[in-house]
Amino acid sequence: MTAKKTGYFTHPDCRRHDMGQGHPECPQRLDAINDRLLASGLLPLLEPREAPLAATSDLERAHERLYLAALRGLAQEVDEQMQAGGPDHAHLDADTAMNIHTWSAAQRAAGAALAATDAVMAGELENAFCAIRPPGHHACRERAMGFCFINNVAVAARHALDRHGLQRVAVVDFDVHHGNGTEDILAGDERVLMVGIFQHPLYPFCGDVPRGANMVNLPVTAYTRGPEIRALIEREWMPRLEAFRPEMIFISAGFDAHRDDDLGRLGLLEDDYAWITRRLQDVARRHAGGRIVSCLEGGYNLGALGRSVEAHVRELAELA
Ligand SMILES: [Zn+2]
Repeated sequence: MTAKKTGYFTHPDCRRHDMGQGHPECPQRLDAINDRLLASGLLPLLEPREAPLAATSDLERAHERLYLAALRGLAQEVDEQMQAGGPDHAHLDADTAMNIHTWSAAQRAAGAALAATDAVMAGELENAFCAIRPPGHHACRERAMGFCFINNVAVAARHALDRHGLQRVAVVDFDVHHGNGTEDILAGDERVLMVGIFQHPLYPFCGDVPRGANMVNLPVTAYTRGPEIRALIEREWMPRLEAFRPEMIFISAGFDAHRDDDLGRLGLLEDDYAWITRRLQDVARRHAGGRIVSCLEGGYNLGALGRSVEAHVRELAELA
């Protein structure tokens, strides 16, 4: 039997972060992914890895020290407030809340991205998918928002540059929402090329004007469908990625641009996610020795999420 080439990084703590009844960014998202990968027979063909806790020094590559201390303090406060019979959540914005498990879940999520990067850089794996939550791409340098606390992809990209000595990494974001946090952290960092496509206008209502020359932002209107999105990606992302010659590719893999997802109004289907993954693999093979680390962001229709992740991971593992 040949070695498994694709890692599957996750941790039970990522399930314990819970923002309350009815919140779309719910623990069941990870169950939907796991169940689908299991039912489709794909899971046993992946290399399972348990995510470690990220160290604060790793998180500081993308976030302010005081912001991280404030998050830790808030986690402590929720604990004390619960002991005193108070509420079991603390809100950071209207739809982003911490419970007593959020901080460890966030450390595991970033830890997954970091460990995946290490394993791929060491050549133990060709690529990896991180089934993690909380997601990260709205988390700014010193602000949590939009269900996100720690920017997993930005932390891992900086780790690849600073710790592994890479000179050029690409960040690709196909979530239906603009990855404003990643842009906040990485805009102007010439070692990074970030390409994104997102519905606009839609939360977080920015990104139509890129904040740096290293940002390729493609805002598209509601009801844009797969064929148009593929054409845009082919025309706008691919030449930039080819010219940049990334040594590694990080993916903010949000699946809420799926036609069946109610948080956005785009029309991607499972086949579109497979196609995007193949195009990114082409770039990775030509320039990066195949190195890709993909991290879960959005995706809130549980059925569509499971099927889309399956399509994405099947391509990563070349089991399509
Ligand atoms: Zn999203």
